[in-house]
Amino acid sequence: MKLTSEIRTLHPRAVFRISRGHRAEVRNVFVRVEQGGVVGHGEASPNAFYAESADDVNSKLQCAGEWLRDRSIRDVEEVGLIWREVWPLLEPSRAAQCALDIALWDLAAKLRGMSVAELALGEKARPVATFCTIGISTREELAGKVAELAGFPLIKIKAGKEADLDAVRFVRERTNARLAVDANCAWSGRDLNALSRELAAIGVEFLEQPLPPGEAADLRGSALPIFADESCVVREDVERIPGKFSGFNIKLVKCGGLTPALAMLRRGRELGLRMMVGCMLESSALISAGAVIAQQTDYADLDGAWLIRDDPFRGWKFESGVLHPPTLSGLGCDPIENG
Ligand SMILES: [Mg+2]
Repeated sequence: MKLTSEIRTLHPRAVFRISRGHRAEVRNVFVRVEQGGVVGHGEASPNAFYAESADDVNSKLQCAGEWLRDRSIRDVEEVGLIWREVWPLLEPSRAAQCALDIALWDLAAKLRGMSVAELALGEKARPVATFCTIGISTREELAGKVAELAGFPLIKIKAGKEADLDAVRFVRERTNARLAVDANCAWSGRDLNALSRELAAIGVEFLEQPLPPGEAADLRGSALPIFADESCVVREDVERIPGKFSGFNIKLVKCGGLTPALAMLRRGRELGLRMMVGCMLESSALISAGAVIAQQTDYADLDGAWLIRDDPFRGWKFESGVLHPPTLSGLGCDPIENG
């Protein structure tokens, strides 16, 4: 039986309950693969920071669709093989590679009548507590955002180049949630050791990506674990993490899907690094795949689907900052529309 694929671009509107208010909508690309009547779903959330656009991802996937017609999925090894062999057609788009890879994992698991977590990790999926992010905010906005996250277990606070820790203190005083701070590359020239001591005193658990990629953080004096995000994009980057960071943030759409994310997980563990899995603004299709990786990471930051309106998929159920696994096979996500 042969593989067929369909690609479409959707515009789920972003809700911006708590952050990222500068975007009114997201343009994500969805892939549907089919073999013998069994359907797999995948998604890309192209991000301009990584020079990706929905149009480029869409056209790359159209090319790959032709190529896929001569392939079929018999076992899970075939997914890894396709991941490598289709790259010349998708290059340089890791987002396109991610969308296709996730769809093929979904399909491979459904063909075996099991979940992707069981197929990839040999374990049943457990609920995942996820960070929910508070973007850079005015004091007035902050109060509303903290109230919205009442009872949530994990809160990540974005910090700009001013390294304003008052916002972090403000959140700390109003919640018992575990806290992390993401500086999104903005702290060049700052005294990271002093800032890390201040954050540790406030009770923050870790700091994410204080400096731009290329500027190494000096961990020796840091009072907190430091995670790489923009400095750790693909599998090969993991080799450069030890000594520079305590761990790294895996994002499926940065690295090219579940196949490389699983490899990053294995390598990170071998190197004794800490790991988290993150997301962009994405639907429950991509979040369901991230939740598979979250089964074995130290932290999850998978609030993307919660932040969008018009989620075209039903998947892991978000309740007060915890994602609960569905009982369906594959990724466990189902299109809400005709799909
Ligand atoms: Mg980040």
